Amino acid sequence: MSECLFCKIVLRTIPATLVYEDDTVVAFDDINPQAPTHTLIIPRKHFASIAELQDSDVELLGCLMLAGKKVAKLKGVSDSGYRFVVNTGAHGGQSVFHLHLHVLGGRHLAWPPG
Ligand code: 5GP
Ligand code: ZN
Repeated sequence: MSECLFCKIVLRTIPATLVYEDDTVVAFDDINPQAPTHTLIIPRKHFASIAELQDSDVELLGCLMLAGKKVAKLKGVSDSGYRFVVNTGAHGGQSVFHLHLHVLGGRHLAWPPG
């Protein structure tokens, strides 16, 4: 079995607080939330990061973003606003190497990020 933490969440071999799922993605709350809403959306299929995607993965990317929109609605932050983040590689601050979209909301988020 894959040693990837997020693959284990997809397979339900480690627990997570599920928020949304469909045939392509799974969404669950971040274990260390940085905002009142902090949900991660991952493709069921393993990709280490967005850097691994090909032009042919355009539909997968669309699914991630549209799932983010649904999660924002489910979490009640659609009207107040929210932010999508995809950390990539060392300078991007990525710590789990299974592609994921952060959905952050529920408070004012500063810009630029640190
Ligand atoms: P990254 O830094 O790679 O962009 O984001 C990884 C995120 O995964 C972090 O925000 C971290 O808190 C979250 N995370 C790490 N391990 C777990 C876990 O076991 N369960 C959940 N739900 N989130 C995790
Ligand atoms: Zn994985």
